[in-house]
Amino acid sequence: MSTDAIQPTDMKWLDKGVFGIDWSDDHHGVYPIRSLRLQCPCAACTDEWTGERKVKSDDVPMFIMLKDVEPVGHYALRLVWSDGHDTGLYSFTRLRQMCQCRICQPDQDPEVEKSLRSRRLL
Ligand SMILES: [Zn+2]
Ligand SMILES: [Zn+2]
Repeated sequence: MSTDAIQPTDMKWLDKGVFGIDWSDDHHGVYPIRSLRLQCPCAACTDEWTGERKVKSDDVPMFIMLKDVEPVGHYALRLVWSDGHDTGLYSFTRLRQMCQCRICQPDQDPEVEKSLRSRRLL
């Protein structure tokens, strides 16, 4: 199946702070919400031209919560965060690539891994 055509089929909390999205290609996506916030694709968080991440681990509250998930058309989700940030439109294609399950991320993004590790230390 082409990655352009994938859609979320189910969304649920897998664990405290871990959001799960099941995809139409039968993949069970795993999204620690802090890592989702850190990967926010909006212009304030990610440089549109270079793709450089502008939001840093320290900028995001350790216990950030996902307050709302709003579908945008048939291509994206808008995530509303407890820190008041709500400008990130996460396209399905991008979200699918952001999956943090072991299959998708055998080598985790160092920044994300660091934030997850610091979370565990608490
Ligand atoms: Zn953002
Ligand atoms: Zn995955």
